[in-house]
Amino acid sequence: MDSLQYVMQNHPCYINGHSRYGRIHLPVAPKCNMKCNYCDQKIGCSYHAFRPSVATKILSPDEAVELVRKYAHNERLRVAGIAGPGEPLYNENTFKTLEKIHIAFPELILCLSTNGLLLEDYAEMLKDLGVKACTITINCLDANIGAKIYSYVTYKGTRYEGIEGAQLLIEKQLKGLSKIVKQGIVTKINSILIPGINDMHIAEIAAEVKRRGAHLQNITPLIPLASFEDIRKPTSSEIIDARNNCEKIIPQFRHCKQCRADVIEIA
Ligand code: SF4
Ligand code: SF4
Repeated sequence: MDSLQYVMQNHPCYINGHSRYGRIHLPVAPKCNMKCNYCDQKIGCSYHAFRPSVATKILSPDEAVELVRKYAHNERLRVAGIAGPGEPLYNENTFKTLEKIHIAFPELILCLSTNGLLLEDYAEMLKDLGVKACTITINCLDANIGAKIYSYVTYKGTRYEGIEGAQLLIEKQLKGLSKIVKQGIVTKINSILIPGINDMHIAEIAAEVKRRGAHLQNITPLIPLASFEDIRKPTSSEIIDARNNCEKIIPQFRHCKQCRADVIEIA
């Protein structure tokens, strides 16, 4: 079985198989290089808040290895991932952690979630470090829409705002997607459905990411927080309709739990 097939059959977020296999997110990456208007990052947050960008505490790479060791005997554990609570590729400890986990637990699928801004720059390194699955959050392809979703991005020490920042992010995300797919890494695209902002645009994202080789799309509802706290959460039927519509273009993941950056879920 090749690596792509293995990921598609064993990663719980690629097979809709949460009841069969488990995953651990290692919260080693606190810093972020951009600001999404829906993001309310919280570190030191108790376990009752279940959403992305949240973690109880930040682990060092060695602490992350010890955490995985506690659960590694469970044969249902298939994935060790890094999903924040900031941007993984903007934190040196992400790379140290990936290296250590891959050496200590080569049987686990290494997984990474990213905003994509630095993905083109690090795609080859991720392959060399043993990453087998990657999720990129892409919420729009149009910088006019992006300027409403993202407050700023910082790239190589320069801060870009508004349409300029959104344009840079979108270009980097798409180039990063093409490059990570070329490395043989299985790629899922998260798209957050934001009513009145990008809801009419999700199918266009599906078509472009499919064209660039993404394997799966995961459309999730906005959690109204931070600058978007007054935007309504999409209804279940809006999400189902968007998934059904995009399923005609690219396979859909329909069981996302919008996990914390330190989730441990082993069936
Ligand atoms: Fe928050 Fe992630 Fe957006 Fe950074 S990329 S602002 S951590 S949601
Ligand atoms: Fe899987 Fe969704 Fe959780 Fe990511 S946030 S690990 S896709 S269930």
